[in-house]
Amino acid sequence: MYKCKYFTIKELVNPAFLKMTDETILWKVFDDRLLRAADKIRDMYGAIIINGGSLTDCGLRLDDSKTGAKFSAHKYGRALDLHIVEIEKKGLSKDAKITEYKKIRKELLQISEFNNLSFETGIYWLHIDTFNRSNRLFNP
Ligand SMILES: [Zn+2]
Repeated sequence: MYKCKYFTIKELVNPAFLKMTDETILWKVFDDRLLRAADKIRDMYGAIIINGGSLTDCGLRLDDSKTGAKFSAHKYGRALDLHIVEIEKKGLSKDAKITEYKKIRKELLQISEFNNLSFETGIYWLHIDTFNRSNRLFNP
């Protein structure tokens, strides 16, 4: 079983999951390729926030979550929304953040070990997922 080096399970799941079951089961729910990728991206870009503060749906979401798509990869342990602290602390506009995250996606797409990752475009955070997609760059 792979557990993240940099992220606790609390950062990876909606808080309601922590009341339902134990951490081992929650780790097991995740696609390990996604967890490994999150750690590698953390190695590359420094501190990253997933869930925390007002953010509760940036990792595993409840089946009845109203956030995002009905069949979102977030509901299957196959998506994470990463907020790179270095970008977040710059106090940029949404558009400038979109540009920053676009650059990061472009860099990540060049790296063969991320070949199983897909990225949502046009957003001001880094959504990564391991869904079985035909296009690695998408916008729902
Ligand atoms: Zn997402």
